Amino acid sequence: MLISQLRDHLRALGAKPAHEQRILRAWLQGQPLTAGRKKAEDVLPLAVRDALPGIETELTALATLRSSHPGEDSSARLLVGLLDGQTVESVLLPRDGLCVSTQVGCAVGCVFCMTGQDGLLRQVGSAEIAAQLVLARRQRTVKKVVFMGMGEPAHNLDNVMEAIEVFGLYGDIGHKNLVFSTVGDPRVFERLPQGPVKPALAVSLHTTDAKLREELLPRAPRLDPAWLVEQAEAYARATGYPIQYQWTLLEGINDSEAELAGIVRLLAGKYGLLNMIPYNTNEGLPYQRPSWDKARAIARRLTEAGVLTKLRDSAGQDVDGGCGQLRAREKEKFEP
Ligand code: SF4
Repeated sequence: MLISQLRDHLRALGAKPAHEQRILRAWLQGQPLTAGRKKAEDVLPLAVRDALPGIETELTALATLRSSHPGEDSSARLLVGLLDGQTVESVLLPRDGLCVSTQVGCAVGCVFCMTGQDGLLRQVGSAEIAAQLVLARRQRTVKKVVFMGMGEPAHNLDNVMEAIEVFGLYGDIGHKNLVFSTVGDPRVFERLPQGPVKPALAVSLHTTDAKLREELLPRAPRLDPAWLVEQAEAYARATGYPIQYQWTLLEGINDSEAELAGIVRLLAGKYGLLNMIPYNTNEGLPYQRPSWDKARAIARRLTEAGVLTKLRDSAGQDVDGGCGQLRAREKEKFEP
């Protein structure tokens, strides 16, 4: 189900825009759909009132908790079941954050990512993205949503933009606390500035070498990293939100002197920061995690050279749940 279909349905039942917004607000904030009545004129039309219990049941069924895997850093990975039996992962992040999935599988096929191994299985509908937020809010407070789970948001742009719009307008999430994460796609730079809610932007760079990028992200759009940074910089200046550049650090692959020089060349003086995430070693994939000391030394050098670099661990790593791993494990259980 799409959020637009839910809205059309409510309108067809006689809901006024104020009713519709109130119902969306109640849903996204994890309250009963009838919540929010303050004045006599707030009374919902009878047809809407009669339909709400059924709608509530349908919305609740969109995303159900299959399993929860708490990590030591107060993160928790959630394996979320969708109505057709597919699963995606959401991650409760420290400091009231939530990471949601936008696709089942992913077509970009990053060679170091479990999600990319199966290709794209299907899009996650806008209401299913919203249902991940509602499910998470039943576990704890959520004030920030990052679209960084399974999938490439740019490949499911209509659904993601619809979710961003309602999260920002009715979900009580500050616009700069909505983070659209992409490997880079020209459509992102066309669409994001036009929406009523402009999210912050994270760009997965991983390398400054266009040739190596084609190998690491085989089905990402063929974009020159310098062009990508230029577009991201323009968006950052227009919105006032710094860009988060993501860099999965792979031992012996993208940690060379040439790469560090490339990072300084592209990012020094830019309105952004570099999140460097040492790769989570993954059985079945041939990549290695660099030592924490090495990663720390790289981050320090880059910061000294004018690129603010934060070293981050991928949340929930201690529960063996890097992006796509929970789903892969679950699949193994049922398809040995
Ligand atoms: Fe897709 Fe992200 Fe995995 Fe790349 S890292 S394959 S973009 S889910």
